[in-house]
Amino acid sequence: MNDAKADKQLRLYVGLVASAGVGCLIFAVRTAAAVPTGKLLYLIALAVIVAAASGPISSLRVRADSRGFSATSGAILLAVATAPLPWAIICTALGVLGSKILLRQPIKVVFNVAKDVIATTAAAATAAAIGIRPSLDLEVDVPSIPILFVGLVAAALAYAIIDELLGSTVMRLATRTSWRQALRINRDLVLRIRGVNVLLALLIVLVAEQEELLILTMVPTIVATQLVAKNRIRQRADQEAWRRLAGTTDRLNVTDLSAVLHAAVTLTPELFSADEAEIELRDEDPPRLIRGSSGCVRYDGVAAEAPARAGSMIAAELDGPAGVLRLRFRKPVRLNESEHYKLQTFASSLSTAVGNARAYAELKRINAENAYAATHDPLTGLPNRRELLEQAKGIFTQRSPEGMCALLLIDLNHFKEVNDTLGHTAGDKVLHEVARRLAAAARPGDLVARLGGDEFAVLLTGLPAPAVATHRAADLLAVLDQPIDVDGMQLTVEAAGGIALAPGSGGVQELMRRADVAMYQAKRGGQRTATYAHARDTADVGRLVLGGELTRAVTHREFVVDFQPIIDLSSGEVVSAEALARWHHPEHGDLTPMEFLDTVERSGQLSSFVDAVLEQSLNAASGWREAGFDLPVAVNVSPRSLLDPTFPAAVLARLATHVVPADRLILELAETLTLSQLEVVERALAELRDAGVRLALDDFGTGVSSLSALSRIPVHQLKVDREFVVAVETSPEAAAVVRSTVDLARSLHLTVGATGVESEPQRLTLWELGCVTGQGHLFARPMGAGRLLAALQRGSGGKPGFLAGPLHKSGSVVRMARRRNPRSPLPHLPA
Ligand code: C2E
Ligand code: CA
Repeated sequence: MNDAKADKQLRLYVGLVASAGVGCLIFAVRTAAAVPTGKLLYLIALAVIVAAASGPISSLRVRADSRGFSATSGAILLAVATAPLPWAIICTALGVLGSKILLRQPIKVVFNVAKDVIATTAAAATAAAIGIRPSLDLEVDVPSIPILFVGLVAAALAYAIIDELLGSTVMRLATRTSWRQALRINRDLVLRIRGVNVLLALLIVLVAEQEELLILTMVPTIVATQLVAKNRIRQRADQEAWRRLAGTTDRLNVTDLSAVLHAAVTLTPELFSADEAEIELRDEDPPRLIRGSSGCVRYDGVAAEAPARAGSMIAAELDGPAGVLRLRFRKPVRLNESEHYKLQTFASSLSTAVGNARAYAELKRINAENAYAATHDPLTGLPNRRELLEQAKGIFTQRSPEGMCALLLIDLNHFKEVNDTLGHTAGDKVLHEVARRLAAAARPGDLVARLGGDEFAVLLTGLPAPAVATHRAADLLAVLDQPIDVDGMQLTVEAAGGIALAPGSGGVQELMRRADVAMYQAKRGGQRTATYAHARDTADVGRLVLGGELTRAVTHREFVVDFQPIIDLSSGEVVSAEALARWHHPEHGDLTPMEFLDTVERSGQLSSFVDAVLEQSLNAASGWREAGFDLPVAVNVSPRSLLDPTFPAAVLARLATHVVPADRLILELAETLTLSQLEVVERALAELRDAGVRLALDDFGTGVSSLSALSRIPVHQLKVDREFVVAVETSPEAAAVVRSTVDLARSLHLTVGATGVESEPQRLTLWELGCVTGQGHLFARPMGAGRLLAALQRGSGGKPGFLAGPLHKSGSVVRMARRRNPRSPLPHLPA
């Protein structure tokens, strides 16, 4: 029922009651007999008693459903028993009017007067029917005490019925409580008071029989009863109000802030008989306002946008959160002290509830954050290794997953150098961008994760066929082709990807291992991606365990160096030798650099390894020198060593120790340096070059940054990669690469060497193209230092220091026979 409709009904009802009351009153006035002179005072006294008895009991705002209840019935019974019916009615009307006239609301005055007039009429009629018919004559026909008692009880009953009916109806309309509820309120007390009223009336009637005006002495008794009743009711109301308050605040004990606020604004109106309640939280951004009426949330949103409301407002500040609780009443209202206190109490419970809900929300947020942090990489925001494993496990345990699932493991090449040269901020930017690109390129359902460092992984799901994994992986890696801009510098990121299809057994760990194996195969093969193949796995298992054995390898001097002679292609004279490291492994036999270099580079043992190689190389060089072969030794240097700031000084110190001139050392630099690395490397190389050390750029032609590297690194020589040497006679493209390399070298005053020369025709072609030196199985396989010295001493065609005849003379090369141990071949001794 809406407010306007209820108001209309209430007014209509009061109008009806008023009309009935006026009817009764007109009837009384018309039928009232003239008052004998002596009796006027008595009637006035009656009216005063009724007035005293019907003094208002203030109803509390903090609702306990208290009803304006009074001791009126006692006084009215007295009037009914001692005055003729019309006068009883008139005295009641005057008395009630007199006491209620002070109420500010006319509607209440009219209703109360009319109600009591009607009830008195009913009570008087009932009493008359039973035989109580007082007259104003001097000879009063007093009924016997039993009749008086029965009459009074019946009259009280009639009064009570009318009083209850009319009273509870108006209350139902005014406060929208149900009939039943309205009738049940304070039932016991009401009954008790009504009973006391009957006895009181009986007593007074008996007293009045003696001396009429003595009834005035009863006024204090009636007022006292009235006060007692009032007190009892107020106490009750108070208790009830606290009980309700406690009940309501209990319902605020929820953990969700909105639930707290919604409960508060929907429960408060009933609690304080307000029309609406609202809470404004000023410390939210933007300030939030929640408004509700009994049982219904009317607004929850930005405070500034809430519709304005008319009416009288009573506010209570909240004392934890910055905010306020407001009660809205349609009509002006003032709360008494106790009600204020209750409102404050409620507001502070609300503050606590809001504080608790907020604390709970904060706790929940922190928990969620922790859970997120535990499963995500803080730098890129991608899921971390743990999350990847978890999700993969989830997919593995699915009974019928859609399509196949594969793991792509991505490792950025040379990422450590980016960090070392440009700093961690730049490194972070690169990782961030890589993460962003991978995530953008991934398909829905795929999971992109960062496993740590420069390792990323993509869990590919829903693959219709195994081959699709390769395509998807290629697409993903292709997004890294575009250079990454870091503070205006364009960095090219190279990456290798290993693909593994979900294995039949072994679970996620096995999937990870396989992808890892494939990734290393890709790296080693210089491919962008490689797919795991079981057949190629065994060696990799070895590689993975090698990491733990490096320390022993260093201390037990298991790293040994073989030397491959480098020959003047034209004359066949040995011009230098390249040092090639091997791991003389106690179990696995000789391991090639391809099998262990990655592991060494990734471990903390790189500098010990470099030391061992340099030591053996310079040792060999000084040995050859002493024997009369002043050959420079070429040592391979990985980019990681060049980034070590102590490297140049360590190299120069070794040269000094071995008394080898600096120009007898050639450092071969891997051509896979990235531009970003060049900056640091440049400095190191300049220092070495200035000291006299010679530099060669290895594997020339394979990397993308060859030319840019060349323009910045002051090298003396270029080494054409075996890839082109193998095809130099057959492939015009390979020949073109060699020719252009030679042209380039010539213009930069550099020499060009070839690696992997395996046949005379290759030697010839290379020479014709402009290569000056070469090495390869045609001349000699790598061998131990002593063995090389012996070969040098033996020479070719009687010429020590030559390992081949001059060009054009076929058959002039001294053939090297394979040794039983393939590590270092023996020179073929002429028969
Ligand atoms: P690289 O610098 O290109 O070295 C030449 C490689 O080609 C050597 O392989 C050598 O044995 C091989 N080779 C020489 N002639 C022929 C031929 O006629 N046919 C064929 N098929 N191969 C030939 P190796 O010893 O396995 O070394 C591989 C790579 O490992 C080297 O490539 C070099 O980059 C690296 N490496 C070797 N020793 C060291 C080292 O001490 N430090 C560093 N950082 N890298 C090293
Ligand atoms: Ca080399």
